Amino acid sequence: MPETTSPTDATGSDPQRIGQLLRAKLEQLAAEESALFEASLEPTAPVQYGKRAGDHVAESADRLARSRTAGELEKLEEEVRAGLAKLEAGTYGICEGCQRPIPEARLEVLAWATRCVDCQSSLRR
Ligand SMILES: [Zn+2]
Repeated sequence: MPETTSPTDATGSDPQRIGQLLRAKLEQLAAEESALFEASLEPTAPVQYGKRAGDHVAESADRLARSRTAGELEKLEEEVRAGLAKLEAGTYGICEGCQRPIPEARLEVLAWATRCVDCQSSLRR
């Protein structure tokens, strides 16, 4: 049995399936972003000063949480796009940090991961 005719590659991942997965994720992120954007435009809650101090604080906290979420969405979108680019370049599943294959279990959870757990955690340190 010649190894070259094996239907799956060494990692067992199907590039087409992963591509679909990443594109679906991008669409989902875009939908979340536009929903977030529309929510920020809605003039439903005019800011009323001079009521209770507690209200104002809550409003600011809410606004902060909202912008952080938008930033996270953007970051995630970048990561997914990077994953798609790698898929096209044929380097998908290779860690950017140590150039070793990213464990399949990690890619199952995080299909757009570009670094293995070790490199990712040393990056965030
Ligand atoms: Zn690594």
